[in-house]
Amino acid sequence: MAFVNALPTELPRHLLYFGRKAFIIPPAFSNVIKYHHSDAVKTRISEIAAKLGIKHDLSRVACVESVGSKSKRTLARCHALPRIMQVALGTKAHYVIEVITENFSRLPKAEQDKTLIHELMHIPKSFGGGFRHHDYVCRKNIDEMYRKLGE
Ligand SMILES: [Zn+2]
Repeated sequence: MAFVNALPTELPRHLLYFGRKAFIIPPAFSNVIKYHHSDAVKTRISEIAAKLGIKHDLSRVACVESVGSKSKRTLARCHALPRIMQVALGTKAHYVIEVITENFSRLPKAEQDKTLIHELMHIPKSFGGGFRHHDYVCRKNIDEMYRKLGE
């Protein structure tokens, strides 16, 4: 999806903001995250959505793997194209499920599946550019979905 590449993912990482002041970080201290589309994650997300009866327009859910995140704990993230960007670009809502390769790939398959269920559950039925939060995307509901996946 074009917008994933169009977003300025690299530039802000070279700038450190303190209130309204921005400082340029020398390249040696910046860590540029690399992103690429993941067919493997897309396939798994499609299978999980089909099995769980999640009827999102998956042509508008991009699955991306990132490499080079400094986070040691984050496994995956769900991003949305905000409504103002939808209006500005004249496009419908899109979501991105990002898998943090270094952390995600270490997980056993069951935990990977639960992580993907978690991120998929953040996308609301309304598919408008907002999110469902952790009152819904919680251990209990994820486990219930995971059980359904195994049936
Ligand atoms: Zn979450």
